[in-house]
Amino acid sequence: MLGTIIGDVAGSIYEVLEINERIKYKKNRSYEDRIKVLDKNVPLFTDENSVTDDSILTCAIYDAIKNGHCDYEKYLREYGLKEVHLGKDKYGRNPFGSGFIKWLEYKKEGDSYGNGAAMRVSPIGFCFDNLKDVIEQSRLATIPSHNQKDAIKSSEAVAVSIFLLRNGFSKETVKECIQKNYYDLNYDLKDLQKNYTFSSKASNSVPQALFVFFESNSFEDAIRKAISIGGDSDTIAAITGSLAESYYGIDENLKKQIKPYLKPYMYNLIKERYYTKNKIKS
Ligand SMILES: [Mg+2]
Repeated sequence: MLGTIIGDVAGSIYEVLEINERIKYKKNRSYEDRIKVLDKNVPLFTDENSVTDDSILTCAIYDAIKNGHCDYEKYLREYGLKEVHLGKDKYGRNPFGSGFIKWLEYKKEGDSYGNGAAMRVSPIGFCFDNLKDVIEQSRLATIPSHNQKDAIKSSEAVAVSIFLLRNGFSKETVKECIQKNYYDLNYDLKDLQKNYTFSSKASNSVPQALFVFFESNSFEDAIRKAISIGGDSDTIAAITGSLAESYYGIDENLKKQIKPYLKPYMYNLIKERYYTKNKIKS
C-alpha cells in the first residue's frame, strides 16, 4: 500500500510531462528524457510531486477492509466525492478521470476497462491470507466502477502477485504464474523506454507495470524503471511499487521522504502499519 503511494507520488510529475508532450507535440517524450530518472541522483520527490487518485482510492480500499466490512463501493464513493468537492489538484486537474467522476455522481454505469481498479487493489494482496479470498476480493473491489473483463483480470493479476510475493514465492515463480494465467509479459525494457505510448487501458498498462517489477533489483529501482517507460507514469509506478513493496519491503528512508506528501487522513489510516514501532505485519 505505501509502495503504491510512493510510486504514485514519484510518478505524478512524469504523467503530467507525458501528457503535455502528447498534447503539444503529438509524440512521446524522448527516450533520453524518459531514462533520466534512472540516475539515482535525480530526486524522486520534489515540491512538484503530489498524491493523485491512485493513492486516494488505495486508501479507500484499505479503509473498506479495515473499518468497513469490505464495502468497497461505499468507500470508493465516499473518498471519491470528498476529493471531488475539494476541487482541482495541484496540477490543475480534476482528481479523477471524467468517467470515474460520472460514476461517482451516478451518471454512468461502472463499466470502465481502464487501469483505475488495478491501481487501487494492493491492500487486498496485503490483507487477505488465502489466494481464493484475494481473487474474490479483488473482483469485488473492481466491479463497482470497472465491471469489464480486462479490468477484473488486471486487478486480480496485481493482487495475486502481491499475495504470492509476500508469501515468499520467487520472482521467477510469480512471473510464470502471471504469464500462464494473465499476460504474456513478452516485453523488452529498452523497447518500452523508447516506444511505449500513453494508455490508461488496463490491458495496455498493467502488464507493462508488472513486467517492470520483474526487471527490478530493489524497491527504488522498480519505481525508477516504472517511470522510465513513460505513459501513465503515476499509475504504472503505483502498481510496480505495490509489487516491489511486497517483495523488497520499503526502506525507512523512503518512508520518511514520502510522509510529508501523505494527506492527514492517509497518514492516520496507515500509520499503525508503517509508522509505529509495533508495525502490523503484512
Ligand atoms: Mg493518478
